[in-house]
Amino acid sequence: MVTTSHDHSVHPVYVIGGGPGGLAAAAALRARGVRAVVLEKSDAVGASWRTHYDRLRLHTTRRLSALPGLPIPRAFGRWVARADVVRYLEKYAEVHELETVTGVEVDRVERADDGTWVLHATGGRRLTGRAVVVATGFNHTPKLPEWPGAEAYEGELLHASAYRNPAPYTDKDVLVVGVGNTGAEIAADLAEGGAARVRLAVRTAPHIVRRSTVGWPAQRTGILVRRLPVRLVDKAGELIARLSIPDLTAHGLPRPDTGLYSRVREGAIPVQDVGLIDAIRSGRVEPVAAVESFDGREVVLADGTRLTPDTVIAATGYRRALEPLVGHLDVLDDRGRPTTRGPKSPPNAPGLYFTGFTNPISGMLRELAHDAERIAAHIAKHAASRR
Ligand SMILES: Cc1cc2nc3c(=O)[nH]c(=O)nc-3n(C[C@H](O)[C@H](O)[C@H](O)COP(=O)(O)OP(=O)(O)OC[C@H]3O[C@@H](n4cnc5c(N)ncnc54)[C@H](O)[C@@H]3O)c2cc1C
Repeated sequence: MVTTSHDHSVHPVYVIGGGPGGLAAAAALRARGVRAVVLEKSDAVGASWRTHYDRLRLHTTRRLSALPGLPIPRAFGRWVARADVVRYLEKYAEVHELETVTGVEVDRVERADDGTWVLHATGGRRLTGRAVVVATGFNHTPKLPEWPGAEAYEGELLHASAYRNPAPYTDKDVLVVGVGNTGAEIAADLAEGGAARVRLAVRTAPHIVRRSTVGWPAQRTGILVRRLPVRLVDKAGELIARLSIPDLTAHGLPRPDTGLYSRVREGAIPVQDVGLIDAIRSGRVEPVAAVESFDGREVVLADGTRLTPDTVIAATGYRRALEPLVGHLDVLDDRGRPTTRGPKSPPNAPGLYFTGFTNPISGMLRELAHDAERIAAHIAKHAASRR
C-alpha cells in the first residue's frame, strides 16, 4: 500500500544496510533531528566485519577511519584489528542511539506517486520513507569469474570471502587467485601459517605501497594527491615505488606498466604491503600467471602451465548487486554502479541517496564519514525548505 500523506516528514528516512556507511548516515541524520531507521539483513550491525579473515586490520589509520561523532578508541592502536572494528561499530550504534532493525532485507525500492519511497522487505513488509539511503556495500556479493571447467573442477575452490585463517590449509598446496589487497594478504597469511606451498595467480601486476614510511601513512599521501593531475601522481608514484619497493621481477612479479593513479581511476587501489613483499622474496609465495580455466583436477594458467593445488582461493572481488534493489529506477551505470553519490540524488529519483560505492585512494571509511554528513545535511535542508 502506498501512502497518500503529503506531509513527508511523518515518514522516517530509511537507511538500507547497517555497515559503517549506513550507521554513519543514520547518526548524521539523527544529529540533525531527522529520524532515520537502519534496516540490516543480518542479525547484527557491522556484518561484513564479523566475517572478514581473522588477521585483517584496517590499512587506514585509526584517526582517519572514524565515523562522525565518535572517535575510534586510542587503545585500539594505529592499525585497528578486525574484531575492534566490530566493537567500534556496535558502540557507535549504541552511543548514537540508532534505530536499527536487524533481520530485514530490502528487496526492492520504488517511488510512490506522492514522492515518498516504498521499500519492499522481508516478510512482505512495505515501508514508506521520505528518503532512502542505500548503503548495502561495495563488497556485496562474492564474484567468481566465469572460468571454463570451473563447475566440474575436482579440487577445492572457494571465494576469499569464505577464508578465515590458515589453519585448514596446514601442509596444503594452495593457489590464491588475484592480487588485490585481499589476495595479497591471504597469500602472506597462508605462507606464514604453515601451508606447504602458496602460489599467487596474477593477471595484472599490482602497485604495491608501504602501509607507512617512517611513520607517514600511505593513506595521507592518498588524501594529499587525490585532486592532483593523474599523470603527475602516476609519475610520483613510479618514483616512490622505485625508492621504497624492491623489484620483484626476478621472483615473477614485474613492476606494473600503467601508472598508480591511472589504475585507481579504473577501480584498482594499490596493494598495501602487509607481508607480501617478504613472502615473495623468500620464495614462500610464488607468483604465477593468471588462471584461464579448469580441467578435471588441474588448473590451467594463461602461459599454458597446469597446476594441481589442493585448494584454489579466488580473491576475485565482489559485485555491487544493486540491480534487483534499484535497477528498475534507471539509476545505475553500465557497470552497475549508482550514477550519483553522496548528497546528489539521480534527477529521476529525488530523495534516493547512495553511499559506499566508490573505492577512493583516500580511504573508504573516511569517504563514508564525509558522505554521511553531506547526505544528512542535504536531507535536513530539504526537509526544512518543505516546512
Ligand atoms: C577486506 C576488506 C578490508 C577493508 N579495509 C578497509 C580499511 O582498512 N580502511 C577503509 O577505509 N576501508 C576498508 N575497506 C572498505 C570499506 O571501508 C569496508 O568494506 C566497509 O565495511 C564498507 O562499509 P559499507 O557500510 O559501505 O558496506 P558493508 O560494511 O558491506 O555494509 C553493508 C551492510 O548492508 C547489509 N545489506 C546488504 N544488502 C542489504 C539489503 N538488501 N537489505 C538490508 N541490508 C543489506 C549487509 O548485511 C551489511 O551489513 C575494506 C574492505 C574489505 C572488504
